[in-house]
Amino acid sequence: MNTFANRRVIVSLATMTVALLGQDARAQFTYHTYSEMVSIIQDAETNYPSICKSYNLGNSVQGRGLWALRISDNVPAEEDEPEFKFISSMHGDEVTGLELCLYLIDHLTTNYGSDSRITNIVDSIDIWIMPLMNPDGFVAVQRYNAHGVDLNRNFPDPFSSPNNTPTGREPETGVIMNWAFAQSFTLEANYHGGTMVVNYPYDNNADGASVYTISPDDDLFIEISERYTWENQPMWNGPFFHGITNGAEWYAIDGGMQDWAYRYMGTNAVTIEVSEIKKPPASQIPTFWNDNREAMLLYIESCMMGARGVVTDGSTAAPVSATVTVQGRNQDVYTDPDVGDYHRMLLPGTYEMSAAASGYETLTHPGVVVSAGDATRWDVALGPATTVLFPNGGETLATGAATAVSWSGNAGANFQVQYTTNANDVAIDFDGFESGVISGNYISGGNQPWAATSSGPHTGSFAARAGVIGSNEVSWMIRTVNGADISFWYNVSSESGGDVFTCYVDGQVAFQASGSTGWTYYSTTKAPGNHTLLWEYTKDGSGTSGSDTVWIDDLEVSVDDRVWTDIMSETPLGATSTPWTPGETGTTCKTRVRVRNADGSYGQWDESDGLFAIEEGGGSEIPTVSEWGMVVMTLLALLTGSYVFRRQQRLVRES
Ligand code: ZN
Repeated sequence: MNTFANRRVIVSLATMTVALLGQDARAQFTYHTYSEMVSIIQDAETNYPSICKSYNLGNSVQGRGLWALRISDNVPAEEDEPEFKFISSMHGDEVTGLELCLYLIDHLTTNYGSDSRITNIVDSIDIWIMPLMNPDGFVAVQRYNAHGVDLNRNFPDPFSSPNNTPTGREPETGVIMNWAFAQSFTLEANYHGGTMVVNYPYDNNADGASVYTISPDDDLFIEISERYTWENQPMWNGPFFHGITNGAEWYAIDGGMQDWAYRYMGTNAVTIEVSEIKKPPASQIPTFWNDNREAMLLYIESCMMGARGVVTDGSTAAPVSATVTVQGRNQDVYTDPDVGDYHRMLLPGTYEMSAAASGYETLTHPGVVVSAGDATRWDVALGPATTVLFPNGGETLATGAATAVSWSGNAGANFQVQYTTNANDVAIDFDGFESGVISGNYISGGNQPWAATSSGPHTGSFAARAGVIGSNEVSWMIRTVNGADISFWYNVSSESGGDVFTCYVDGQVAFQASGSTGWTYYSTTKAPGNHTLLWEYTKDGSGTSGSDTVWIDDLEVSVDDRVWTDIMSETPLGATSTPWTPGETGTTCKTRVRVRNADGSYGQWDESDGLFAIEEGGGSEIPTVSEWGMVVMTLLALLTGSYVFRRQQRLVRES
């Protein structure tokens, strides 16, 4: 039996008899030593080899192993499963979480196969548990590692230490970083002690200010944090409202592990302060486990929500190292290159998602519908960019004459093929605000309207600037544009996290910015037609930084009046050509082709490089070499058709 299981028997006995025996029985729980902790991890692999694998992921300053246990079905195979990790005690004297991790190991292993929920968790998720990240500090009963460094200030940070490399960092930090580089964690939490709260990103901002610093997944973090605290009523009712806090709002820290995991690795991460006292009396540990057990399980399960899938090469079906983005949510996740799986945690809603990888064409799905419960699948087969080969400019085609549009592209995709006869009907609508006033094309309002200003334009002499407003006020401006490609420049100089510039396109948040951005380019491509742009500057209850405003300039909208007509709305998989018999004449013609898959996803259009002409059919033209194949096929079809026609005539006559 492993040492922890022995203790569990004692604890169970204590729990059952505590009412009779009082504190004496409960006091039989004692904290584990470092070597006992290592034994529990190793014994778990020995006793449950089909679901447990132990790892010494690297050593501390004084040479103690940073041990982790991996729990999953088919361990240690990489599978299409989200990866999850708990880490405790990066501060060596905050040890409640260490014991919770050991309890969790025992709970998962002993209930696997008999409890359907635990079995499902272990079968569906690749769970890693590192009970003790700072063994030297633990042995010395101190916060810091053996170099006297606070490991939760030692990670890459965009504002103080941006290089995402272990070089120059503490060995314990390097172990955690290399572990994350080798895996692809979807979700994690790390345990501390000293109060009771779930602390979610961001922990830091450019000013190092202790203000609410919103991350792109603020809604998600609040949801999963409150799932945890609702199940842990002492935490829910503790010193923080609902037991949760934005990290930087509580106090900003530089180089924290949580923000590093989220910002650099695309891993959703929170920091859990699990006990008011860093090392509570041992007799209280079973109660802490009772308070945290359901919370821990629910938190692990939450990595199953949102959207998931596998990104593969359309030709070879090999997994691809890809970046998955969600429109309007500036936080990417990455596939695990071993399997190609990604897991993008999202609350229920409809999301425009894209998958991009070096050397491949980006694919976009305009409406991935995420519902409550298990994640929605969007599997993606990437391929090379689509390239129109024929007609590609310079050709003369004839109405009524069969030809074929051909292209190269993704062997794992379907394609949409279109033509236009007015390819030159594209105009640019540009506004640099150089008239010195906001024109009647715009509507502006809020507490103060926007105005043209000569202070700091992007180009020329003027830009548009938000109205001068005070705390809790707003200044907005709207314009409806007609076109497809929309771009402008913006410049924000505001209190980071507090005073926020938000741009909406067609009512959806396109992006948000605060702090000091400098002039920044924004562009988006929409379906041709009318689109509403809303620029909004809102200030929170207090504080002012920089110029306390936002500018926009050089708004450019391509007004696209080209009429595109489908030649084929969706080709068979992997097609590289489609028949086409032009039916109308024109001198400014183009074709265009894009991936358009049955699941609704699409790639980038590729257009003919130049114009071609379609003339009234007269059969006087000599086909080009590339057209000969189609000509032969057409002749064959005609011959076959006339044969069938003659056969039918004969049958008619004979009957
Ligand atoms: Zn701590």
